[in-house]
Amino acid sequence: MSIKTALTDALGLRVPVVQGGMQWVGRPQLAAAVSSAGGLGMITALTQPSPDHLRQAIREAHSLLKPGVRERSKFGAIGVNITLLPSINPPDYEGYARAALEEGIRIFETAGNAPTKIIKLVKQHGAYVIHKCTQVRHAVSSQKMGVDCLSIDGFECAGHPGEMDIGGLVLLARAKEELTIPFIASGGMANGDGLAAALALGCCGVNMGTRFMCTVESEIHPRIKQTIVDSTENDTVHLFRTMRNTARVYSNAVAREAIAKERGGAKFEEIQHLVSGARGRTVYEKGDPEAGVWSAGITLGLIHDVPTCEELLVRIEKDAITRIQTMGALVHPAKAV
Ligand code: NAD
Repeated sequence: MSIKTALTDALGLRVPVVQGGMQWVGRPQLAAAVSSAGGLGMITALTQPSPDHLRQAIREAHSLLKPGVRERSKFGAIGVNITLLPSINPPDYEGYARAALEEGIRIFETAGNAPTKIIKLVKQHGAYVIHKCTQVRHAVSSQKMGVDCLSIDGFECAGHPGEMDIGGLVLLARAKEELTIPFIASGGMANGDGLAAALALGCCGVNMGTRFMCTVESEIHPRIKQTIVDSTENDTVHLFRTMRNTARVYSNAVAREAIAKERGGAKFEEIQHLVSGARGRTVYEKGDPEAGVWSAGITLGLIHDVPTCEELLVRIEKDAITRIQTMGALVHPAKAV
């Protein structure tokens, strides 16, 4: 038995699960492991210091795929995430997109502000585009722009949830009312029940980030994986609220200090030394959860182990099928009167 949706059909997936973009985490080994296990693995473009480094990362991911996986769809098996958000050093987004296209990438996850130019560019090359939105009205505009699938990102998510604080339950139901193209659920997704719930709400799959951080193939320090296992849904906080660039991050002393300062009126430049991505990166490298700011979703409360991507996707698929069947059994023929 397997789950068949518009997403599995379009991309040749065994299980409708996408590993979304994650700064410093979406590296070749993880992306290849997710795709080899039947999901969609994604390299995060900005984790690579330059478009040329992205080329190398794509080659490495392709070389790590199980035989035959790269050919499973006309779009290939690996995607590239390009997120356009305020940055300390604004990146050459178009350069990253062109490098990915030249390396044969035909699946893109886009997110953030003003993505039109990048979406148009990759669509001109026949790519399959999943665009991430935190607002239904943005999703409707992106649909008009010609993206293939939307990733509807609820307030539960790690990183940037937008400024309206709409949880996945209502956001996905609203997406179903407004959209005519397929969409996946992002934010709050970590297990088979989540996948079944997303399918019940009209989604064709799910996007997971934090859950994939905590897998064997994710190249973050084992102590950070253990921190995730030991954490609960109460262990995240919102940074950059006052700057309208809200980001859900792990609640540590650095994040709380930055939040206290911004609430006191500090400008970005005054907290930059606390929140920079370069400092956050050392969390994953050194294994110190207090070393800087790092993204985490409230799925922290649902993550209890460190499986391989294959074990995780097999479990999610099995549990989702069981949940769907259990729900089917709730329906009984009407009683005769
Ligand atoms: P960075 O070091 O440039 O910035 C650190 C954080 O500060 C980021 O969250 C950024 O959005 C925010 N920021 C930067 N300038 C700001 C400003 N003037 N006002 C308010 N907030 C500001 O970030 P990085 O870690 O090197 O990441 C590069 C980019 O990737 C950032 O835009 C980041 O938001 C984004 N990102 C991407 C993903 C992904 O999934 N691809 C995940 C998290 C963050």
